Amino acid sequence: IVKVDQIYKSFGSNQVLKGVSFEVQKGEMIAIIGASGSGKSTALRCIDRLEKVDSGTIDVCGMRVDDPHIDLHKLRQEVGIVFQSYNLFPHLTVQENIMLALRHVKQQPKAQALTVSMAALEQVGLGNKADAYPEQLSGGQQQRVAIARSLAMAPKVMLFDEVTSALDPQLTGEVLRVMEDLAAGGMTMLLVTHEMAFAKRVADRIIYMHQGTVWEVGPGEMLDNPKTPELRAFLNNGL
Ligand code: ATP
Ligand code: MG
Repeated sequence: IVKVDQIYKSFGSNQVLKGVSFEVQKGEMIAIIGASGSGKSTALRCIDRLEKVDSGTIDVCGMRVDDPHIDLHKLRQEVGIVFQSYNLFPHLTVQENIMLALRHVKQQPKAQALTVSMAALEQVGLGNKADAYPEQLSGGQQQRVAIARSLAMAPKVMLFDEVTSALDPQLTGEVLRVMEDLAAGGMTMLLVTHEMAFAKRVADRIIYMHQGTVWEVGPGEMLDNPKTPELRAFLNNGL
């Protein structure tokens, strides 16, 4: 459903992606790990065309993302992306935040947007917070609203970039549980994470990125038995 083939990307003289290739099959959850600056976020952003690749190809749900004439509107309907920062509108309630894109991007009538947004909130365990304002919620709850907002658009693939990095351990747990439920429900997911135990337990495969390349790929057990000294060092030293 996602096929990234030999992508290269530089910012000025800084070559950030140096021939990255990987695939995500329908229903898979793939975790990307790697040191700060290894290109994880850039790779994810290229898939949603928030960045353009210099060369290489990206196919998502039958669309060529590297095609300059791609229909971005269509791409963004198929691909949901959630970041570390929640970016909720403070003056709108939780449900209004979710309804916004349903109304304006998907042009859903109000009644339908109400139903769809409520279903998404229930899916992340926040059905009782529909009328709350973002500032009345914990960080973990706000992040779950951000996930619900993406989910409500019914994407075929969801990308997550370190969605728990700003949260304390307890709140991290509740967000990870939502992602685990999504994976169990068959959502196709690609996530950048520093939560090694979670990646190992839930991901179908783990991609270890090192200096702009895919250095090691394997099932969760690869974290117990790294093949390369780089992955071993990363796992021992964290960032
Ligand atoms: P982290 O774990 O810290 O999030 P990362 O693996 O996600 O790191 P990227 O954010 O992909 O790393 O960044 C890789 C490199 O690309 C870094 O050297 C960064 O400074 C550079 N970079 C990323 N985005 C831009 C940009 N928009 N303009 C210039 N340089 C950028
Ligand atoms: Mg990053």
